[in-house]
Amino acid sequence: MKNKLRKEMKLKRSMLNVDEVTTMSRCIYENLFSLSCMKCAKTVCTFISAFKEPDTISIINTLWNEDVKVAVPISNVDTNTLTLSYIDSINDLKKGAYGILEPIRIKKADETEFEVILIPGLAFDKNGNRMGFGKGYYDRFLEKTSAVKIALCYSFQVVEHIPAEVHDVPMDYIITEKEIIKIR
Ligand code: ADP
Ligand code: MG
Repeated sequence: MKNKLRKEMKLKRSMLNVDEVTTMSRCIYENLFSLSCMKCAKTVCTFISAFKEPDTISIINTLWNEDVKVAVPISNVDTNTLTLSYIDSINDLKKGAYGILEPIRIKKADETEFEVILIPGLAFDKNGNRMGFGKGYYDRFLEKTSAVKIALCYSFQVVEHIPAEVHDVPMDYIITEKEIIKIR
């Protein structure tokens, strides 16, 4: 059930063309920066988009322009955990595990500083439940944070119901190109 939905969403997302990704990413950007927590945050943690995920590079550039500190994840494939590293320049990235861009040199971030965490995913429901790639990376990371958890995805990724388990950490907001979903 979970894996069928993962496959379906991966396929749907892979079929988006560059223009669709750009246009929807622009709306997601606007929706994101309309949130007050994004206007006040001094440190934001975000994924770096891959696989036609909504673009986060323009989000990162805006944050830097506002002197906000930015941290990004590095995947540890042995433990399925994320190490969070500050970055200062897009040039400091190279492709790491899973083909996702990661910092070349790790500048270990103080995770307690994060006020907002931007989170990728394959599918979400309106209760904030999330389905990722199926390895629990974000669940392990998010269980120890009090930051505002914001998922960025396309509207077709918001489904009726995600079968969540006890280890799954729910989102606070889901932002799509069409709407801002505030959970509870
Ligand atoms: P995803 O969130 O990537 O969609 P799942 O929620 O299905 O993936 O989790 C994948 C695996 O990781 C599960 O077997 C789950 O038991 C394990 N897992 C997830 N979170 C934790 C955690 N906080 N501690 C230990 N194992 C976890
Ligand atoms: Mg999970």
